[in-house]
Amino acid sequence: MDRIRFFRLYARETFGCRVRKIPVALPFTCPNIDGTKGRGGCIYCYRGSRPAHLSPRQSLREQIEEGIRQAKDRYGRKTRFFVYFQSYTNTYGDIAYLKNLYDTVLDYEEVVGLDVGTRPDCAPEEVLDLLANYKRLGLEVWIEFGLQSANFETLKRINRAHGVSDLVDAVLRAKKRGLKVCIHTIVGLPGESREDFIETAKLVRALRAEGIKIHPIYVMKNTALAKLYEEGRFKTLSLEEYVRYAVDMLEIIPPETVVHRLTAEAEREKLLSPDYCLYERKMEVIEAIEREMERRGSRQGLLSVEGAGGNFEKLVEEPRRF
Ligand code: SF4
Repeated sequence: MDRIRFFRLYARETFGCRVRKIPVALPFTCPNIDGTKGRGGCIYCYRGSRPAHLSPRQSLREQIEEGIRQAKDRYGRKTRFFVYFQSYTNTYGDIAYLKNLYDTVLDYEEVVGLDVGTRPDCAPEEVLDLLANYKRLGLEVWIEFGLQSANFETLKRINRAHGVSDLVDAVLRAKKRGLKVCIHTIVGLPGESREDFIETAKLVRALRAEGIKIHPIYVMKNTALAKLYEEGRFKTLSLEEYVRYAVDMLEIIPPETVVHRLTAEAEREKLLSPDYCLYERKMEVIEAIEREMERRGSRQGLLSVEGAGGNFEKLVEEPRRF
């Protein structure tokens, strides 16, 4: 029995074959870095979440073609692809520039979907209309919004420079156009406890987001969070704690919600803590979450009954960690 509806399961059901995401990095920036909304970015931001193996100096076509070639070598010729615009804020730019970039994916017949990561305060109507147009052209289109926490005090503390209301507004407008929405959440942010993680999961459920990403907070060198960590003012979660909280959240998320990610993938040279966020330990974390679900006799959506108020009976106040 699959206890979690991972993206790979959803994609196989939908497209009838293996589907892989090809992450691409482009020379985008972010309004929370360039001074439009803020400077310095979110306190944990490291290189706008760009994977180490990608370079924005490589053209989009080169990145797509290399991604397709490598995945086909590994997973077979029938594999199909989503192009995933991952790093920084991929809707933050002139509309003609964005159209030109997104149009590139149409040239590859193996590409069945477009996946665009952004901030909830960077979803103007014209960009959502543009994205919706790729649906009409036959692609499945996901838009991924970083929320991280449903607690506004936390958003201020981590310098997100947007509110919870921005997320609600962006999700509703994206869904009105038939775009599939994935919401990013982080477990273990400064000052948060279990009830915050539960509330964040409940917001994702209430918005009927089609997808969710959950990952533990991790500290990269040379970030504002690294300073707090090195001064002893912030601690990351143990693997056992993260697994427990991730399962608590998954129990609230409806069974049909697609789980795009359950852990982080950091590079060894840059990661301060925790060790289990290293790229090479990714499967260990996922397996630990699956084992915890099995131990509880649980599954995604076990407590997702709408209108029932979630799992308040399980809410036990824990000490704030910040
Ligand atoms: S929104 Fe993303 S790219 Fe922008 S500062 Fe925060 S983490 Fe970095």
